[in-house]
Amino acid sequence: MKANIVTLPGDYIGPEIIAQAVRVLEAVAAKYGHEFAFDERKLGGASIDAFGVPLTDETLACCNAADAVLMGSVGGPKWDGVEAARRPEKGLLALRKGMGVFANLRPCTIHPQLAGACPLRADIVSQPIDIVIVRELTGDIYFGKRWRAEDRMAATDEMAYSAAEVERLARIGFEMAKKRRGKLCSVDKANVLECSRLWRETVARVSRDYPEVEVTNMYVDNAAMQLILRPSQFDVMITGNLFGDILSDESAAIAGSLGMMPSASLGVGTRGLYEPIHGSAPDIAGQDIANPLGTILSGALLLRYSLGLEEEAKAVERAVEQVLDEGYRTADIWHEGLEKVGCTRMGELVAQRI
Ligand code: NAD
Repeated sequence: MKANIVTLPGDYIGPEIIAQAVRVLEAVAAKYGHEFAFDERKLGGASIDAFGVPLTDETLACCNAADAVLMGSVGGPKWDGVEAARRPEKGLLALRKGMGVFANLRPCTIHPQLAGACPLRADIVSQPIDIVIVRELTGDIYFGKRWRAEDRMAATDEMAYSAAEVERLARIGFEMAKKRRGKLCSVDKANVLECSRLWRETVARVSRDYPEVEVTNMYVDNAAMQLILRPSQFDVMITGNLFGDILSDESAAIAGSLGMMPSASLGVGTRGLYEPIHGSAPDIAGQDIANPLGTILSGALLLRYSLGLEEEAKAVERAVEQVLDEGYRTADIWHEGLEKVGCTRMGELVAQRI
């Protein structure tokens, strides 16, 4: 197949990790006979330096014309003094909004080779852990009305959801559960919040279209606890923006290594935005020591969700497992007895195993 992929390396380690993810996608194209055209554009601080704004209309238009967008990371101390409205992170928020992506997917799996990095007890992680958290991205308390008293001594943030916003997110979760182990856990705080009661009613209504998916509802406080006590019980979890922000970081801590975690942001249709969950790591930039695996695995999600290339996605995931099995590690996941490799070498090793 032919596909147009916009790459947005961004700042600090961004260009280093994106180069390796592109290398792996090129290996996939060569092996499986696809034609991937890469169009590299600037985002974040790199775009501020070149054009004065963190996202140009032209870049956004290219992203919206592409089949998928692969991003590195944005921001860093170089742009700390830039006024709030033009900061690098604003470019990412504007990109998500401009692309209409409203569901953020974060897979949480524990690579058996990295089980030592997981902070949970060995008997808890002896059961396979394979969770996808689907977080709503464009609603909730982050986008509601705000108020601060004149004397600055009181404040309000409004939480708001419409049934339509909940429904489109729920459908992504149900579709995903259908293709996986058929289990969906909806996380809310329906014992207290009206928004959560709307959430629960809407999920129940949507569930009638998916009789093959087993649905459970869980209060967010219990879900936070269950993720640590018995993470293997979960398949797909769907939740709102605020609860998802917290639970997805908790799940990243369970997986144990920031550099390994991919994410996908999807809207209506197949176009998506793919990025590792970590930031631009200014402390290690330019040294060729960053871990590119989170970005490479984001490339696997791109193949799966935007291009519908499941076999190719699995090939990338298998290649990563193989490299880990063979004992290669970047510095962030390295320990005595294993072979330490840099960012470029790690990318080469994965690409060779496609
Ligand atoms: P960070 O994720 O960049 O770094 C946290 C720690 O993890 C650092 O010690 C870093 O060296 C390490 N780390 C991160 N990614 C790694 C990788 N691939 N390989 C090896 N080590 C890795 O978080 P931070 O330091 O809080 O933020 C740095 C900058 O990134 C800030 O400007 C922040 O706003 C921005 N940020 C951007 C995004 C994004 O682009 N989506 C996300 C989070 C933070």
